[in-house]
Amino acid sequence: MAYEIIHHEYDALVVGAGGAGLRATLGLAETGLKTANITKVFPTRSHTVAAQGGISAALANMGKDDWRWHFFDTVKGSDWLGDQDAIQYMTREAIPAIIELEHYGVPFSRTPEGKIYQRPFGGMTTEFGKGPPAQRTCAAADRTGHAMLHALYQQSLKCKAQFYVEFFALDLLMDENGQCCGVLAMDLSTGQLHRFRSHMTILATGGYGRAFFSATSAHTCTGDGNAMVLRAGLPLQDLEFVQFHPTGIYGSGCLITEGARGEGGYLTNSKGERFMERYAPSVKDLAPRDMVSRSMATEIREGRGVGAEADHIFLHLEHLGADVLHAKLPGISESAKIFAGVDVTKEPIPVVPTVHYNMGGIPTLHTGEVVTLKDGNPDSVVPGLMAVGEAACVSVHGANRLGSNSLLDLVVFGRSAAIRTSELVKANTPHKKISNASEDKALSRLDGFRHANGTEPTAKVRLDMQKTMQKHCAVFRDGPMMQEGIQKLNAVIDSFGKVKVSDRSMIWNSDLMETLELDNLLGQALLTITGAENRKESRGAHARDDIQDRDDVNWLHHTVAWRTGDKEVKLDKRPVHMNPLDSDVDQIPPMARKY
Ligand SMILES: Cc1cc2nc3c(=O)[nH]c(=O)nc-3n(C[C@H](O)[C@H](O)[C@H](O)COP(=O)(O)OP(=O)(O)OC[C@H]3O[C@@H](n4cnc5c(N)ncnc54)[C@H](O)[C@@H]3O)c2cc1C
Repeated sequence: MAYEIIHHEYDALVVGAGGAGLRATLGLAETGLKTANITKVFPTRSHTVAAQGGISAALANMGKDDWRWHFFDTVKGSDWLGDQDAIQYMTREAIPAIIELEHYGVPFSRTPEGKIYQRPFGGMTTEFGKGPPAQRTCAAADRTGHAMLHALYQQSLKCKAQFYVEFFALDLLMDENGQCCGVLAMDLSTGQLHRFRSHMTILATGGYGRAFFSATSAHTCTGDGNAMVLRAGLPLQDLEFVQFHPTGIYGSGCLITEGARGEGGYLTNSKGERFMERYAPSVKDLAPRDMVSRSMATEIREGRGVGAEADHIFLHLEHLGADVLHAKLPGISESAKIFAGVDVTKEPIPVVPTVHYNMGGIPTLHTGEVVTLKDGNPDSVVPGLMAVGEAACVSVHGANRLGSNSLLDLVVFGRSAAIRTSELVKANTPHKKISNASEDKALSRLDGFRHANGTEPTAKVRLDMQKTMQKHCAVFRDGPMMQEGIQKLNAVIDSFGKVKVSDRSMIWNSDLMETLELDNLLGQALLTITGAENRKESRGAHARDDIQDRDDVNWLHHTVAWRTGDKEVKLDKRPVHMNPLDSDVDQIPPMARKY
């Protein structure tokens, strides 16, 4: 069917208005480029709003600190899969990035002297891991993401960035030479289609936590940008690394920030034992997330879980006292009341490891530029395309992200993408004509789903996918379990071929939108479990029962994966950047990851 399409032209376009997208938008608009931002939810409803615990930077406001220690901790936390040039860039730029946020108006909590308040977080240490835990995570109570999003949105409006709110990006527009020239999007309130031409398109569409059944992420976290990249014939990187947060509220999956343990909270099993003392004697409950999640899963597997089914763990905050809880952790006190019926001043919170963050995503350089493997070059830049935030794999988090390093990643790389764009794009450059091929492909995909008239409701297919991923790609995995999962997922993909969309209208058609999102999720679920089955080692969040050791000889590289057919995946390798950017720091060679 023929669709009428409204045409727009911009110098730069950002898809997504979470922390990463807003920081990029602000940077672009500040330099005078004609900038548009399109977002499927109102900017301040993006998942970043839910970030509680804080944002890391070695400010040394509450004890000795150095960004080189932050660099070391992040490399070690990543289990050596992080790119050391990007990690150096992020940890060094962290300090001016936080001061900049303060000047933009983020209302950070304060120390008695009026400095930005900082709390301890997992895996953040001093003296290159030899000193005591660092107090490095800057916080606005337990509503840090909320505070950041509001400040960044207001600043972007001040700089006259143009927002297209509740617009759903469908696909990238690519020219015959593989350059990105914009996106095709749909206005959700009317169903009207819009073509956005742009010299630089920056994807900031967030993670895909909703591929799993129990996730702390918002229902909007469906990895749409990642899926658009796959459909453009480009690869994604390291999807097998999925972070389980130790403390999702049992039953609802709602997050209790790591900041709760940063403020002195601790975990116990059915014997009342503080078991983290056994698994990580030096940092205990503040070990990195992959370790705490595995320790909890082990306690539960060995029969020391709490509750009627012995299938969860207790998080204690009662000893902190009502005053501290009210001042430092008001939001999670409320969440515990609503989602677990628990008064945190009196009783422990029932918690269980819950899917929280995607370390993998669109491979990029620290400039934000998207790369692919081409003609033997593992860092071949895709012109016109960038990715930032959770959608991207820079890769600063490698195989395991440290808490409070994501909010930092958003602002540092959102800013660097804007800087690089202003070097590459001259304001008001005319747009060349491109062939209709990629737009036609996007339209026929949309049309296919609009008229899908099979037997399977979207919600059923989605639930089957989520349950399969939750069971077969869990905290602990092994070969046979994942092979069975791939078979099951293939069956789910087959059933999606028979999907039925009941609503035929174009106005606020949430049935159609959820189907498009499910299509996006399915590809990433497939790449995640296929990559996990393929990686024959344990590293960071990828913990195999059948192969428990890290294998630096054979597996110290990124996985890159293409979706070559409905159920077909092509896998390849990309070297980890082991060299830092410059001589400000020394390379950290792989070593044992003990805490
Ligand atoms: C509950 C929770 C708490 C967290 N706490 C912390 C913390 O304390 N510290 C920390 O460092 N990290 C934390 N994280 C992780 C961190 O918050 C996220 O990784 C980060 O906020 C992701 O930001 P983003 O800008 O990449 O994407 P998001 O904030 O997820 O935003 C994605 C944007 O893309 C848009 N979008 C998506 N698809 C489309 C489409 N098809 N068309 C148009 N627009 C689209 C959405 O509208 C949205 O604006 C937390 C995560 C969760 C889930």
